Amino acid sequence: MDCLFCKIIAGEIPSTKVYEDENVFCFKDIAPIAPVHYLIVPKEHISGADMINGENSHYIAKIFEAAAKIAKNEGIESFRIINNCGDDAGQTVKHIHFHLVAGVKMGWGPESLGKTE
Ligand code: AMP
Ligand code: ZN
Repeated sequence: MDCLFCKIIAGEIPSTKVYEDENVFCFKDIAPIAPVHYLIVPKEHISGADMINGENSHYIAKIFEAAAKIAKNEGIESFRIINNCGDDAGQTVKHIHFHLVAGVKMGWGPESLGKTE
């Protein structure tokens, strides 16, 4: 399958790995929007949050378990996890991924959507 994140997980495309276990892979985002910006992905190809079902939802729990471990390992006390699903939400890679961002005081509210129109 021609999927960028499947290739990163397989080591066919280089990445800066932060964490890996049997279900999950975590690497640094190539274009960080915050001092800490990691991507956490399941090792199984799931195209987006709209494809989560009873068969694969355990991967989401594993992703959040990994996020807690990663935060502890890296001494991150406060973080935000973001998932973009679909084109209007800004999903550019169709392998479900969770952005873990930290290291900056973050705003919250309508402006945080970064609306483009
Ligand atoms: P999204 O826009 O939610 O689909 O997020 C995709 C993310 O993947 C963006 O933040 C990109 O900067 C990031 N990205 C794209 N290509 C790479 C790559 N080769 N290595 C690491 N991160 C990447
Ligand atoms: Zn994939």
